Amino acid sequence: MASSVKNTAKKTAPKRTANQKKRSPHVKANAANDATAPFLSSTAAEEITKIFRALDRSRDGFIPRDGLLAAFNSKGIHTDDPRVKDTLEALKRSHEAIDLESFTKLFGHDIGFLNRIAKDQFIVPRFNEFCDEMSTMFEDCREIRDGAVADYIPQLARVAPDQFGMGVCTIDGQRASFGDKDVPFCVQSTCKPINYAMALTLNGEEKVHAHVGREPSGRSFNELALNDRGLPHNPMINAGAIMSCSLIHPDLPLSDRFDHVIKTWTALSGGAAPGYNNPVYLSEKATADRNFALAYFMQEKKAFPAHTDLLQTLDFYFQSCSIETTAERMSIAAATLANAGVNPLTNERVFSSETVKHCLSLMYSCGMYDFSGEFAFTIGLPAKSGVSGALMVVVPNRMGFAIWSPRLDKLGNSVRGIEFCRKLVERYSFHNYDGLSEGEAKKDPIRSQELYRSDLTYQLIHAASLGDLAEITRLVAHGADINAADYDGRSPLHLAAAEGRELAVAYLLARGANPQAKDRWGATPVEDANRHNHSEIEQRLKKSAAA
Ligand code: GLU
Repeated sequence: MASSVKNTAKKTAPKRTANQKKRSPHVKANAANDATAPFLSSTAAEEITKIFRALDRSRDGFIPRDGLLAAFNSKGIHTDDPRVKDTLEALKRSHEAIDLESFTKLFGHDIGFLNRIAKDQFIVPRFNEFCDEMSTMFEDCREIRDGAVADYIPQLARVAPDQFGMGVCTIDGQRASFGDKDVPFCVQSTCKPINYAMALTLNGEEKVHAHVGREPSGRSFNELALNDRGLPHNPMINAGAIMSCSLIHPDLPLSDRFDHVIKTWTALSGGAAPGYNNPVYLSEKATADRNFALAYFMQEKKAFPAHTDLLQTLDFYFQSCSIETTAERMSIAAATLANAGVNPLTNERVFSSETVKHCLSLMYSCGMYDFSGEFAFTIGLPAKSGVSGALMVVVPNRMGFAIWSPRLDKLGNSVRGIEFCRKLVERYSFHNYDGLSEGEAKKDPIRSQELYRSDLTYQLIHAASLGDLAEITRLVAHGADINAADYDGRSPLHLAAAEGRELAVAYLLARGANPQAKDRWGATPVEDANRHNHSEIEQRLKKSAAA
């Protein structure tokens, strides 16, 4: 952050109002926005002052607004990011030079996040450099003109073939996108892993896999073939995807079932509702002889759950394929899978980690049509492609990619999409088994996992001491250990209790924090609350300890 603030500061020397010049910047200043200053404890006030001083490179009590905005941007944190949207909106409306008072008003609620910006604590630390490399790979792939658009329905046949969009989103919500990133395309077969994950969530693994297998079929995606139990081979081919549809709220009207799918895509994409392409749906339905045949074949083999409405299930499947998204949004969905089911922008848990594990396993072995084995071998990542030219790629615990380019190879995968993946794993150690090869000169753009984990612990302790519930929720969702402690044995609960953070204490207790943990002086959170006269917290902790 320091360097980007410094650079921008040089370029945009902040103009000050007469008022600002007269006042001592650290005491009184202009109101940068309408928000009232948050109530801050002395620890939090000290903390924010420290960050302010670190960012005030010119040491004159002011930070250039544009430099601050650029700092967020350089980490891949965008102004529409729900975690900081309101703050950054207010920042945009504020004076060009921000003093401590305005800074506190703006960021008093976001100290945890601000700290991570200031200390560069995101999963991809040098995000700008990473984006430059992404951009080069993307532009190299743009040269490719091989392949042809899918033409089994006119709506796909008419798509301009050389469009090309790409989005990447890390598990920390750092984002970048390229080319036709905002152009909508229909998800087609990339709905398959999502519908499978929904079916798992609603029915559990055992029930789902009583109706669909989990072996690669070794056949084409719409082959009229079932496994030796009379079930579809896996949920990533058409028969299996139709089966997943039959398992999503079969008792509800179709409208509500589809609502559920739309809501899930919305949650996966961080709050932006997907579109829907009705002409694609109508065309799919009108040309779906093979899918009808597959469904009747499965019905004949009694593969469906009892009482399945076959025609409605098929309709539901065609509708799912006709959902529209963009490369930018799909990359957030892919990042949600990379982040074990928690959306990195909203911290909402969309799928359980167990569900995501199953889903990624089958994407890994079956997600790329008849190229699945080859893709697993050469690229080594879970992915799913669709005939619209969409390709969703997941780098578990790191990031998600979405590439969209409509020209397909003979096996139905996006030509540029595959080439981009090749380049990606050539440069970075993203292949599932890259860790095994010694001395390979591949880069890892990721903050060391060990450092990242220990950062999570310290960040959680810090957020608990500030009572920063949004940050605590995010850290817990990222897997921070609620009972981990610092070198003094101080746990998040010790700090929250000592600082009188009632909501944080309640949150931590509800998630299994230990009220009897001892620090290195033998003190428990109960004793901390008592020592600092937080009697309600003390009672709550005692109750929890007795339970
Ligand atoms: N709607 C297509 C079908 O069911 C999906 C094709 C695909 O993307 O694989 O035939």
